[in-house]
Amino acid sequence: MKNSNLPVAIIGAGPIGLATAVHLLKSHQKFILFEAKKNVGANILTWSHVKLFSPWQYNIDKEAEKLLIKNGIKIPNKKEVPLGKQLVDAYLKPLSEIVEIKQNLHLNTEVLSIGRKGLDKMKNANRENVPFSIKVNENNHFKIYEAKAIIDASGTWQNPNPVGSGGVFAVGEKENKHHFFYGMPDVSNKLIAKYANKTVLVVGGGHSAIGTVLALSNIQEKHPKTQIHWLLRKKNVSEVYGGQEADGFKSRGQLGIRIEKLVNSGNIEIHTPVFINEFKKHNKKLIVRGYKNGQEFVLKNIDKVISNTGTRPDFSFLREIRFDADASIECVTELATLIDPNIHSCGTVRPHGEAELRQKEKDFYIVGMKSYGRAPTFLMATGYEQVRSIVAYINGDFEAAKDIQLVLPETGVCSTNIEAEICCSNETSSKEEINCCTIDKPTKQVSSCCDKIETNKMNSKKTSCC
Ligand SMILES: Cc1cc2nc3c(=O)[nH]c(=O)nc-3n(C[C@H](O)[C@H](O)[C@H](O)COP(=O)(O)OP(=O)(O)OC[C@H]3O[C@@H](n4cnc5c(N)ncnc54)[C@H](O)[C@@H]3O)c2cc1C
Repeated sequence: MKNSNLPVAIIGAGPIGLATAVHLLKSHQKFILFEAKKNVGANILTWSHVKLFSPWQYNIDKEAEKLLIKNGIKIPNKKEVPLGKQLVDAYLKPLSEIVEIKQNLHLNTEVLSIGRKGLDKMKNANRENVPFSIKVNENNHFKIYEAKAIIDASGTWQNPNPVGSGGVFAVGEKENKHHFFYGMPDVSNKLIAKYANKTVLVVGGGHSAIGTVLALSNIQEKHPKTQIHWLLRKKNVSEVYGGQEADGFKSRGQLGIRIEKLVNSGNIEIHTPVFINEFKKHNKKLIVRGYKNGQEFVLKNIDKVISNTGTRPDFSFLREIRFDADASIECVTELATLIDPNIHSCGTVRPHGEAELRQKEKDFYIVGMKSYGRAPTFLMATGYEQVRSIVAYINGDFEAAKDIQLVLPETGVCSTNIEAEICCSNETSSKEEINCCTIDKPTKQVSSCCDKIETNKMNSKKTSCC
């Protein structure tokens, strides 16, 4: 909106929403930051006991760091890897308490719906110059705010996928919900009694599932009657081991090493590839039914189910906004070819900014974890670069918006992935391109090698191994 004195509204005070606020502050742009929960970093606090895999160096936005230092707040040691709780306590909370941020932060304020003032989604007339209208529930009072632009950084962690196969709730999943936990429970501490000496089923094949299984194995050591079943849709459990020593993030590589060791110990029971259809209550326990390699699969006497089957974005409050999301990944459409796990599993995504995130609705952007939709590979550093670029654009600095600069460590898994191998060996044409897909260097400027691939495949689908 031209010449508007209205603020830019940010939805969600996670790391990316807060970084957006900092960039807007630096650009002397008015902003208003809505957070549904009573704390900033609310989603992270649900996994506060979990250690991140990236060290502080990658977890703090550069402008936020300058603001913290200016306000006399100590920056953590860049080489250390924090727990979720430390990320909130030592970074997000102090940042949110800096007076210029705090006075524009609305906690306990859930955004319920947004649209253009007086214009429904179908109306074009002067749409770009009409303010956004934002309906919120603020401390149990319904209110409307207006904004000249909206940056949706509301994450996905609060919307877990169901356990049932095909992304559909299994029969009996909702009905037996007190047996289920969606996320990463703190099994090391207050919840220990809930899982000790119980038969626990973990479902999922990503880093969260690995973390959960490893945490349960600690309980098993002290409470040997604890039985752990780990159920994956992947063909083989070895697919989750990742880059290990070759991973640019040592902590992420360590997860793969530790889980492989645990699997080899025989102390947990692996079921793969299994697709669940039904949970049935029997004698206060659950019977799990599904199929494995075309045969019926049955698992009995399950006390607890922990689901780590991924998360999905909530688009419900965007009903009146003209936006696009990829039909399969539910990410911002332009990002789909960069992060589609069907194309490559490397997890290292080419840095991107305002141009890729621009939506049909002018001055509306989806950023952060939500911009990746259902893909699990989002890194905070990527989000910080996204919002730096968007704020530069809003501020009229189009050169800075285009100048994307980000170097990220790689996962080191490309060459172990079948699709990536196909992508590298069949579709690429030069040795240079093949190198970009192998476990060669711990860090590199990912944009350059991906650009080569895209340039050399002028007419083919825009696939990328990086
Ligand atoms: C277990 C785990 C470990 C991870 N480890 C790493 C790591 O090591 N390094 C790394 O770079 N990334 C890591 N990530 C990924 C990612 O960086 C984080 O999930 C990060 O929190 C995403 O930031 P975000 O700001 O996009 O979203 P979130 O942190 O999810 O924040 C979204 C915020 O929006 C609020 N919200 C939601 N809906 C509304 C609404 N309607 N109205 C108002 N507010 C709303 C939520 O309450 C929340 O506070 C990890 C993720 C998980 C789950």
